[in-house]
Amino acid sequence: MHPKPPPESPLVPSIPAAPRHSRAGGGPSPDAAPAPGHVWLVGAGPGDPDLITLRGLRALQAADVVFHDSLAAPELLDHCRPDALRIPVGKRAGRHSVPQEDIHVLLAAHARAGLAVVRLKGGDPFIFGRGGEEMESLRAQGIPVTVVPGVTAASGCAAATGIPLTHRDLAAGVCLMTAHRQDGAHDLDWTSLAADRQRTLVFYMGLSQAGHVGTELLLHGLPGATPAALVSQGATPRQKAVRCTLAGLARAARRHELESPCLIVIGDVVTLADPALVPWVDDLPAHETGAIDGHPAENRDDRPAASPLACPA
Ligand code: SAH
Repeated sequence: MHPKPPPESPLVPSIPAAPRHSRAGGGPSPDAAPAPGHVWLVGAGPGDPDLITLRGLRALQAADVVFHDSLAAPELLDHCRPDALRIPVGKRAGRHSVPQEDIHVLLAAHARAGLAVVRLKGGDPFIFGRGGEEMESLRAQGIPVTVVPGVTAASGCAAATGIPLTHRDLAAGVCLMTAHRQDGAHDLDWTSLAADRQRTLVFYMGLSQAGHVGTELLLHGLPGATPAALVSQGATPRQKAVRCTLAGLARAARRHELESPCLIVIGDVVTLADPALVPWVDDLPAHETGAIDGHPAENRDDRPAASPLACPA
């Protein structure tokens, strides 16, 4: 017996009766398929719909209802059952996203109605995806949650552009950061971020903050000639990748009309980007030496930028 659907509310207008879950005939295996009354937080991967995991795909194929982000590739919804409800909750052109608290209510209400619920999120649900908040809220309401990891944007964009995020000779680690704080504050520890030259820095949600990121890192001592890249709409046919230097980051973001979603990668590994793999746009004018908008070039680095980012003579 499935539990009764909850009473109607503006957030949960009408929840269909839970269907019988029959998995005969070569359907997804029971251990991989969402169960009624359960929420699966599924990572869709970035951009390319092929980047979802097999487990994520199986969950999608078996779900009664799918709440999907705008960052998840729309083609993935073709894998849903024809009778599955598909509910967009991400930002769309001209429309605001559904507030996070309302998503929590919607997920819980549909699970309580006995439906197998998939929450499809771009990239990995636990990396800047608010998946942690969704899990906490569902657990607090007694709803079982399963998390299916996904390829995060840093990995997807790195693969799509030929930038290894770590490399024995160039980067001993990688640091995933958000440039966009919930309260709008920029209280990152810029000193430590700029001090560790052994790691690659990747900034999520950084397109509008590119100037701020560049300025802070430069002012905290990271050399202006440090290679940097902006990857817009990575792993999609619309991908645009720009190579620049830390000092030129803000200008590059402005000049090339990059669109969201966009990732910033900073570190020597950017020099390994393969121009044969993707059509890179280089933004490295000859006078690039370390000064950035409104700031003196006091942190100028004398080392030459490594090839292929070397400035033209
Ligand atoms: N959970 C996601 C991240 C969500 S935050 C993940 O693991 O990838 C949203 C940010 O992710 C965007 O602002 C952007 O910085 C990055 N992003 C997501 N998809 C991207 C893509 N296809 N290309 C470039 N950046 C992407």
